[in-house]
Amino acid sequence: MSENCVFCKIAKGEIPSRNVYEDDRVVAFYDINPQAPVHVLVIPRRHIDSLDGFTVDDRDLAGYLLERTAHVARELRLAEPGYRISINTGAHGGQEVFHIHVHILGGRPIGPLASRR
Ligand code: 5GP
Ligand code: ZN
Repeated sequence: MSENCVFCKIAKGEIPSRNVYEDDRVVAFYDINPQAPVHVLVIPRRHIDSLDGFTVDDRDLAGYLLERTAHVARELRLAEPGYRISINTGAHGGQEVFHIHVHILGGRPIGPLASRR
């Protein structure tokens, strides 16, 4: 638990969230400000600031986070016709919450990867 981390609080149930999946290591919940018809965030329960915070010791968790993301997307019936995942990292990556999270965006064609070069 990192003090005042909103996603740690969601993982502990201290802030309400609309969860779509949870187990002992990860939680998936709907984004409060959806950017697509389906917008879900998948987080590890353990606090890691960002993708840049993953170390070799976190390989198993990193793989599990990605595999569970695919599982959640399948459960939400997004696998066909497809979806976008994003792990925004740092300031230029557009990261606002510094507890690593995978965005799942779907329910419409998501379009180009970036709006500007
Ligand atoms: P980032 O920009 O860090 O990649 O994405 C953070 C995401 O977290 C944003 O899409 C934002 O809407 C979402 N978010 C921020 N605070 C909350 C919250 O309290 N609950 C939920 N469900 N989503 C949140
Ligand atoms: Zn956290």
